[in-house]
Amino acid sequence: MTDVKDKVEKASVKNNSINKPKTSDNTSQQDRKNKPEEFSECEDLSDLQGDSEIAPGEEGEIIAEISPDDPLVEEETEQTEETETPQLDDDADAFQDNTSSSQSLKAKIATTAANYTIKYAPDVKPLTGVVPVCAIAIQWADGHGASVAKTGSAARSAARVYESLSDGQYKWRVKTMGIKVPYNRSRHNLNKAEQLVKKIADSSNRGPKYGMYLIVNDNAKDFNNAGTDTAHISSPKVHTMEHEGGHILGNSVKEDRYNLGHAGAYKDGKYEEYGDGLDFMSKYPASTLNIVHQYVLGWIAWKGKVAQYDIGDPATVYKIDSLNAKISKEGAVRGVLVDRGPSEKQLFFSEMSMNGKPVYALHLRQGKNKDATGSGRIALFGKKKTYDGLTFEVTTVNEETFVKISPEEPTSAPKATLKMR
Ligand SMILES: [Zn+2]
Repeated sequence: MTDVKDKVEKASVKNNSINKPKTSDNTSQQDRKNKPEEFSECEDLSDLQGDSEIAPGEEGEIIAEISPDDPLVEEETEQTEETETPQLDDDADAFQDNTSSSQSLKAKIATTAANYTIKYAPDVKPLTGVVPVCAIAIQWADGHGASVAKTGSAARSAARVYESLSDGQYKWRVKTMGIKVPYNRSRHNLNKAEQLVKKIADSSNRGPKYGMYLIVNDNAKDFNNAGTDTAHISSPKVHTMEHEGGHILGNSVKEDRYNLGHAGAYKDGKYEEYGDGLDFMSKYPASTLNIVHQYVLGWIAWKGKVAQYDIGDPATVYKIDSLNAKISKEGAVRGVLVDRGPSEKQLFFSEMSMNGKPVYALHLRQGKNKDATGSGRIALFGKKKTYDGLTFEVTTVNEETFVKISPEEPTSAPKATLKMR
């Protein structure tokens, strides 16, 4: 069983007048091998186990149901929800547009853009299909319980996001119900309450077996987590449904490779596991996924190709489409995967949108393994960024965007000579 835990923060966020629950994750991983490292930190889940035995005669009942086609209700406006305001992190000389480098890039593009040849990253088998999802608002014996209507709306709004990101190829068919349990709301009772509501939901189900359960416990515990086929959710929020569902996407189709890790970011020399505000696998309520996550899910395939640049390649120019652009430009790619060899994390370049304006992003595929499903944002920039010996330089010619990836210029003293001394 896999558990990924997202703890609701107790302290407020610094440097921000708006406070929001922060999250951090946890996983218990006894039965799981080769898991991405993001799924393996944090606190012990043992005190969560509680009493999982449903005693004979303990019954619950479905007290409300919402069909997938019922109208959505508004999610309560969350005054507390924080969004990231990312800072651009360009190289110091990036905005001097008359540098010889940017002039030569424009000249090169003008003469060669039409006929350059590039390599493509391997295609990834896409996550597709329709998954029956059961969203349940536990109604506790002492009167606590999240709104069934809001639970259904949040789950279906999250479903729409996944459907849109996958270009309609991956869908949650959401059935929502409120189920009354004969227990008072407590962390200790949560496990058996969940067992009971799943049993009741399954027995009332006439369609295909549910591939995922989104169970809202109305703050019976102060964090969210997800494992196997179940997301354990404190309150019915779209972002929480997207995020916790994202951790178990693969389990919903029995392919671990699609279980998403977190969207982190390197900021001020530190790694923030939930720091990439341009991806909902962070702590922020974004409505999209970054290039690493879209590549892992195989969902770039319908939009276009990802190019590949290998370390050692000469400087190469790529015509770029924004990651989420509706229309593909001829000859453009949706990003570039930089393969840095077997022992280094894969690096991705992409164009995203921030406040309606294009920004350029470098992400690492974050985790222990080559096929890890976490992402770590290295930088967001507007024109030029050097990372680990590679320079990424963006230029726009006739409303088309190009990035030139170049290896570091050789220094005047060749490295080989230095090594021999
Ligand atoms: Zn998480």
